[in-house]
Amino acid sequence: MVLVLACILPAAIMVGGLIAFQYQQERESLTDDAIGEARTLAFAVDQRLLIVKAGLTALATSRSLRAGDLSSFYEEAKATVPELNAENIVLLGPDGQMILNTLKPFGTPLPANKASQLTQVLQSGKAVFADLFMGSVAGKRRVAVGVPVIHDGKVAYSINASITPERLQTILLQPRLTPDWIAAIYDNTGAVVARTRDQQRFVGVKGTPVVAKRVNEVAEGAMQGTTLEGDPVIAAFSRSGLSGWTVVIAIPRDSLTAGLRRSMLWLGAGTLLLLAFTLALAQALGNGIVRTTQELIAPALALGSGELLSAPLPEPSFREAAQVGQALAQAAGILSGATRALTQSEARLRAIVESAMDAVIIVDEDHRIILFNAAAETLFGYSRQEALVGSVERLVPERRRDEFAARLDAFGRNGNRYRRSTQVLFGLHRGGKEFPIDAAISQFVEDGKRIYTFIIRDVSERDRAHADLVRSNLDLQQFAFVASHDLRTPLRSIEGYLHLLEKRYGPGLDAKALDLIHRASNAVLTLDRLTEDLLSYASLDAQAKPFTTIDCNEILADTVRLMEEVITESNASIVSAGPLPTVLGDRTQLVQLFQNLLSNSITYCEGQPPQIRITSNLDSDAMWTVSVADNGIGIESRHHERIFEVFKRLHTSSEYPGTGIGLAVCRRVVGRHGGRIWVDSADGRGSTFSFTLPTIPEPRHDQAT
Ligand code: ADP
Repeated sequence: MVLVLACILPAAIMVGGLIAFQYQQERESLTDDAIGEARTLAFAVDQRLLIVKAGLTALATSRSLRAGDLSSFYEEAKATVPELNAENIVLLGPDGQMILNTLKPFGTPLPANKASQLTQVLQSGKAVFADLFMGSVAGKRRVAVGVPVIHDGKVAYSINASITPERLQTILLQPRLTPDWIAAIYDNTGAVVARTRDQQRFVGVKGTPVVAKRVNEVAEGAMQGTTLEGDPVIAAFSRSGLSGWTVVIAIPRDSLTAGLRRSMLWLGAGTLLLLAFTLALAQALGNGIVRTTQELIAPALALGSGELLSAPLPEPSFREAAQVGQALAQAAGILSGATRALTQSEARLRAIVESAMDAVIIVDEDHRIILFNAAAETLFGYSRQEALVGSVERLVPERRRDEFAARLDAFGRNGNRYRRSTQVLFGLHRGGKEFPIDAAISQFVEDGKRIYTFIIRDVSERDRAHADLVRSNLDLQQFAFVASHDLRTPLRSIEGYLHLLEKRYGPGLDAKALDLIHRASNAVLTLDRLTEDLLSYASLDAQAKPFTTIDCNEILADTVRLMEEVITESNASIVSAGPLPTVLGDRTQLVQLFQNLLSNSITYCEGQPPQIRITSNLDSDAMWTVSVADNGIGIESRHHERIFEVFKRLHTSSEYPGTGIGLAVCRRVVGRHGGRIWVDSADGRGSTFSFTLPTIPEPRHDQAT
């Protein structure tokens, strides 16, 4: 309905406006016509007056009048009256006294002199058109034309012809004039001289002041006003320049607006009719739209609630509905695909969560458990149904609950996505037993609320195994320490006895026996070195000291000093290319590290004097890398890993002396300092042993201040 109104109303208003405009135009042209008509009538009145004036001027030249034969002139005048279509002719004497009047027989005594417009002729010697006056003889209203009679340059008489209003009315009664129009002649005083309607009643009556005023202002025009009867009219007028009289034509305003009213009525009726018809049409179309739309509601709802469109879509009654229907069908397809994918991914996720070895627990913002997987059931001893009605706090030992809740909320507030516990946490089993756990937490936001996911692992086993390992390590170290320490005493004795044997019985023994004694001594020496090395390896942890700031340049210098003898003997050159870093570490162990590497480089060389080059550089991970490169025999790449194991050697003692513990010590020292060690080498091409050491962390600003 609104649509229809929106379509029709502007058009109707437009047509109304056009009609009003047309009416205005018409009114203007009608007024122009009326003014023209008034002009024509004023002209006709002028013609009439001029004819009378001409007739009178001709009469003024009468010989009988010049000769003073007034009775003959009377006859002449009487004969002229009908020619001029006048009422009568009057002759006034120079004093203005009426001498003869064709209405009265010649010689009849006439009324006495009376000053009037007509007597002005005598004074001015010019023709006069007199306004409406009351004739003294006939006693009736009339207008008159007066001309002077000049004898010997003087005004001797004035001849006047009077015209009755009835005669002037005949000029106005034109068949051309529209019947309901009123035409009227007003004289210079504004009195009605003639009128097409109710002449008798209104002759001599003054016109309405509005009209009179306007008529005095301009010679021609139109205005709104009222008739003498009081009817509203448009008045068009034209004033004669000759007599100064004005012809007014009044057009009743009603008749003018009647056309407009009629048009407006037709327009209104037409609009209403069109409206009714269009509304009916719209209703019919609208019903189709409503029906189709309503039929689409059910499929749309089915789609929204996740049901697929089982029934075919309704037959649409318009194109857009068909498009909506198609879109719905398409959406159904997309939705079904998405639902299937969602179901599948949900099933997969559920399978992952359910088969996870770790407990997976999801809790909402209020710490209520909303997911509890099978591993969680086993770990905490609650069934899923039991767990889902409680809060996550019940899984935490009571003494830790408040702290736990506060920390969980803080994690939620600071918005971190993920966090893993750095300290040992404890879970609480349903049975009341506490156990150590490793936990990670993550969060996401669902419907504006935080959801937390916990992944929890029971680390009882791991902790136990670790404790066992530490214990067994300690035992082993203890054992190695005791063994190596205790072994050295009998070794010393054997060495002493062998020495005694050689000294006391040496001269009596043959070369073979002496060789055997030497071999036994060497074996004891090797065994002693081995136990010593083993001792130093075993006591690495036991003798560890707290880390201090250590300049590696000093360590190198100390090491070189310690090895001075070997270095000189082997003629080795040791070059440090650039300064070495300062790190946090254990001085003794770092000396041990450098000593082992340098002594290896000196030991494993072939003939030529060993050349050892020590370099360092800082890499991107804030780690120093220190490298010790030699020109020795090199190591095949397949041995690069195993040489760092205890007792792993690539040569026999007769080839190169050694126990196979040096690099194992190096690895442990570097490991204890937070670095790693490796070798780059190829057989016969020298070896480069490199190890990393962490840089000293920058002091934190807050701590520094
Ligand atoms: P040891 O030197 O007492 O035998 P290490 O643990 O120090 O024991 O070395 C293990 C093995 O690695 C050595 O036997 C040797 O074969 C090899 N090796 C170590 N350093 C070097 C080196 N600079 N050049 C060549 N081989 C080396």
